[in-house]
Amino acid sequence: MGAQRKALHAELPLAERLRARIARDGPISVEAYMQACLADADGGYYATRQPIGKDGDFVTAPEVSQIFGELVGLWAAAVWQSMGTPRPTVIAELGPGRGTLMADALRAWRNVPGLLAAASVALVETSPALGAIQKARLADAPVPLTWHEHLEDVPQGPLIVIANEFLDALPIRQIVRRDGAWRERCVGLDARDGLAFVEGETVAIEEPGAAEGDILEFRPAADKLLATLGVRAAKGNPVAALFIDYGHEASGFGDTLQAVSHHDYADPLARPGEADLTAHVDFATLKRAAEAAGLSANGPIPQGTFLLSLGLEARRDRLLKRATETQAEAILTGAARLADPRQMGLLFKVLAVTSAGLAPPPPFGEI
Ligand code: SAH
Repeated sequence: MGAQRKALHAELPLAERLRARIARDGPISVEAYMQACLADADGGYYATRQPIGKDGDFVTAPEVSQIFGELVGLWAAAVWQSMGTPRPTVIAELGPGRGTLMADALRAWRNVPGLLAAASVALVETSPALGAIQKARLADAPVPLTWHEHLEDVPQGPLIVIANEFLDALPIRQIVRRDGAWRERCVGLDARDGLAFVEGETVAIEEPGAAEGDILEFRPAADKLLATLGVRAAKGNPVAALFIDYGHEASGFGDTLQAVSHHDYADPLARPGEADLTAHVDFATLKRAAEAAGLSANGPIPQGTFLLSLGLEARRDRLLKRATETQAEAILTGAARLADPRQMGLLFKVLAVTSAGLAPPPPFGEI
């Protein structure tokens, strides 16, 4: 009986289940709300749909141009060489989306002596829907592939991690300054039983310089991720990780929680689970978390600088040589979109984290 009731309950839209939960237990934190919207097994955004691409809600860099995945792949290959070409090496991608970046990286690795024989690829993905798409896309990969729900489950040993637009999808916590104290920002119910932001318990945190109403954001799951990398490095294995995301270089106050649906901004509370929910990545905090975990942090640098330094233009020109006129147009606009400061080139930033003893990975050593 209980199981049946639970199954019926799961069929209710996520919005209704959240309202019932809040009516019963009180407001939930922004972090719990974001977690439910993104990952709820029955109604969560990533758990239930394939959102990436022109027909979806948003387009990511690997979907803009094959050059992105190829250059990120070559970055990983250079790091593997700087580690002394260990065999075996695990190359892990966090949140691989449609598998496009990895497919392009694997193609680039064909020209790197010894890498395909040394590497195995670990895909860290929580969404069954996207995992299935990745499996189909990478079916004929020339290296062993494994899928995992958590980075902790990836086999030990030398490790190279790639994460594009992954961190922004991890839940954030928000606290708000009210009457001289910090309070947890929560989602509760308004007078008409609609979802509304409310303020919860006070939080004991010292953060000077805040004005009434200021919001401060944290991303506990990102801190945990860096701690996990630090633990792996402390076991003596070389570790390097590349984080590419949109966000800011300096920490500050402000609400960056946003919903995106069909390539447009939406109200984060309007359709829980049906719109993508993200928040800016705070690279300063990320760097601090890396250093606290005993790792070196390089950057962040703008995505445009990163890709141009790794040879975006040379790769573009090589592709242009054997392109039809229509293809040439797409190659040119794609390359420009990735690197142009008015497009993705500046807002997106790149941070490389390495275990102590590894040389700064390209292009961080040179710029
Ligand atoms: N990197 C891809 C996809 C970005 S979208 C690209 O650039 O196109 C975010 C990806 O992270 C999706 O694949 C989503 O299912 C996955 N994801 C979100 N939260 C996750 C988590 N906590 N653990 C593992 N994967 C997660």
